[in-house]
Amino acid sequence: MRAWADWVKKKNQSLGFVPTMGALHAGHASLIYRAKKENDKVVVSIFVNPAQFGPHEDFSRYPRPFEEDRKLCASLGVDALYHPSSEDIYPQGYRTYVNVEGLSDLWCGRFRPGHFRGVATVVLKLLQTTFADRAYLGEKDYQQLMIIRRMARDLNLPQRIIGCPTLREKDGLALSSRNQYLSPIERAQAAILYRSLNTAAKKIKSGETVSRALSSARRNILSVPQSKIDYIALVDGESLEELKTPRPGARIISAVWIGKTRLIDNIKLV
Ligand code: AMP
Repeated sequence: MRAWADWVKKKNQSLGFVPTMGALHAGHASLIYRAKKENDKVVVSIFVNPAQFGPHEDFSRYPRPFEEDRKLCASLGVDALYHPSSEDIYPQGYRTYVNVEGLSDLWCGRFRPGHFRGVATVVLKLLQTTFADRAYLGEKDYQQLMIIRRMARDLNLPQRIIGCPTLREKDGLALSSRNQYLSPIERAQAAILYRSLNTAAKKIKSGETVSRALSSARRNILSVPQSKIDYIALVDGESLEELKTPRPGARIISAVWIGKTRLIDNIKLV
């Protein structure tokens, strides 16, 4: 990977990087298109990172359709695919982890201890190895995007971290590799998440209190049988601190279970 990146650099070409865990979908493709548009060469990584999964999470059953992913990348004109093994990333004796304090303990971090430590560590390693000029991340994983931005600033990384809008199904459900865990009935029910976020955002914009708007979103979501809410909150768009009243750049962020599948989504108040 590094030899190829050096070769790109020697030609004075710019390199865009899209980190993924594979099981690629149109959301990933949208990041790749953007990276292609803004760089001479594009590298995509596919690595299901063990360090970001808790002991009882879905690491072993996470989908790994590598051949399909490889073909999709080829058809999109990706120049290099980086598909390291766990031993490549975490060789014997590996001891170094990155912790973006504060930001990593909030929201998803509270329900998935150690998750963002694993994410920040692997993204830093991937940025170091791919030597990219720009990294493209989805707003769908908003807390992750803010944590990587903070890390890049704090550690003086040379890469620009570029946030890209969330791609959605027709009914509003954000595309996600985990959507394939949903049964057909759950898949139909899952649209409630974006609908509820959207309605709450509109209500807040038209003057309803944050607490009333979010209570009614909670009730809507919980009307789906087997649903559970980890959190739904209005937060500052950068610090992710909870807000009782709206401000420019604020977002409603949420994590919800539909049956055994955990979905996250967020929406900007405009
Ligand atoms: P993942 O493979 O789930 O780790 O995601 C890899 C990258 O794709 C992350 O930066 C995600 O935020 C981004 N991504 C995932 N789903 C979407 C989506 N529906 N729209 C835009 N970007 C996405």
